[in-house]
Amino acid sequence: GFKSKVTVVGSGNWGSVAAKLIASNTLKLNSFHDEVRMWVFEETLQTGEKLTDVINKTNENVKYLPGIKLGKNVLADPDLDNAVKDANMLVFVTPHQFMEGICKRLVGKVRGDVEAISLIKGMEVKMEGPCMISNLISEQLGINCSVLMGANIANEIAVEKFSEATVGYRDNREIAEQWVKLFSTPYFMVTPVQDVEGVELCGTLKNIVAIAAGFVDGLDMGNNTKAAIMRIGLREMKAFSKLLFSSVRDSTFFESCGVADVITTCLGGRNRKVAEAFARNGGKRSFDELEAEMLQGQKLQGVSTAREVYEVLSHRGWLQLFPLFTTVHEICTGRLPPSAIVEYSEKEPRLS
Ligand code: NAD
Ligand code: 13P
Repeated sequence: GFKSKVTVVGSGNWGSVAAKLIASNTLKLNSFHDEVRMWVFEETLQTGEKLTDVINKTNENVKYLPGIKLGKNVLADPDLDNAVKDANMLVFVTPHQFMEGICKRLVGKVRGDVEAISLIKGMEVKMEGPCMISNLISEQLGINCSVLMGANIANEIAVEKFSEATVGYRDNREIAEQWVKLFSTPYFMVTPVQDVEGVELCGTLKNIVAIAAGFVDGLDMGNNTKAAIMRIGLREMKAFSKLLFSSVRDSTFFESCGVADVITTCLGGRNRKVAEAFARNGGKRSFDELEAEMLQGQKLQGVSTAREVYEVLSHRGWLQLFPLFTTVHEICTGRLPPSAIVEYSEKEPRLS
C-alpha cells in the first residue's frame, strides 16, 4: 500500500525533538516510510565541522539539542529542495521570522498532494493585516496546512516526560487523525480540535504573556502577581483571537495549546528567562543582546510577536482594549520601564 514520506523543515530545539517523536513512530507504523528527512539550515560549528555532517555522524543535534539521540532513521539534509521533493507530509518548525523566505524558496518545489502542519508559534503582519504562519504556508505553496501547538517545552519532551498537545485542523478529520498518529507517543498525548486559527493564535500569543511573566520574575514580584499576569494574558489572548476570527472557540483555550501552554511557558520557557534578565538589568541591555548571550543560537518569538500584535492593535484602534499586550511591547522598546507591567488599576479594559 501507499506509504507516507515525512520531511521536517527546521532543526532547532523543538524541530529536533519533533523529528525524534516522528522518527520513533515511522519505525513502528506501516503506513509511513521509516526515513524522516530533516532540513538543516547549514552552519559551521566551532570545530570547523558542518552541523549536518555531525548530526548524521552522531545522530545528535549537538548545537540545538545536545545529548539526545534523534533515531537512526532521521537523515539531516542541508538542501531544502532535495529535502522536500519526495515528501507528502511536511512538518514546518523554524522560528517564524524565517518562514516567509523559506516559503518563497519552496514555491513549485513541493508535491501536488502534500499535506503540511506548522509547529511554529508566530505571525506575520502585512499591509492587508495579520497573517498566521499556517496561512502563509497555505497561500504561498497552495497546500492545506494544519497546526500543532501545546504546553511543549522541547527539552522536557526530549527526555520523554509526559505532556499533551493540540492539533488544529480546518475541515478534514482524517488528515487530523493522520497527524495525531504521526506525533502521539505514550509520553506525548495529542488531541485534535477543529479550530486552526484558535489553536495557532493560542501558541502565538502566549509568547507575549511569557515575556510579561519574565518581567514579573525579574522584579521579584512573586506568585500572585505572576498568576494575575497569566489570567490577564489569557483573557487578552481570547479577546484578540475572537476579534480576528469569529470562528475561534472558547473551548480551545482549555486545551493544551491554551491555558496549559501559558502556564508552562510562564514557568519555564525561554521568553520568560530572557525577559527576566531584561528586567533585572533595568531594560539597559537589549533583547537581541541577551538572546544571543543566553540562548546560543535559539530564537525568541515573544518580542517580535508583541511588535506584530501592537501593529495590528494600533492599526485597528484596539490598543486600549489590550493593556498587557501593549505594555509588553512598550517595555521591550524601552518606552516604558519593566515595572509598568503591573500598572493595571487605571487600564482594566471592558472585555467580554
Ligand atoms: P530555535 O529557537 O532552536 O532556533 C534555532 C533554529 O533557527 C536553528 O535550527 C537555526 O538553524 C535556525 N535558523 C537560524 N537562522 C536561520 C535562517 N536565517 N533561516 C532559517 N533557519 C534559521 O528553534 P525551535 O526551538 O525549533 O523553534 C521553532 C518554532 O517552534 C518556534 O516558533 C518556537 O516558538 C516553536 N516552539 C518551540 C519550543 C521549544 O521549546 N523550543 C516548543 C514549542 C514550540
Ligand atoms: P519558549 O520559546 O518561551 O521557550 O516557549 C516554548 C514553548 O512554546 C513551550 O510550549
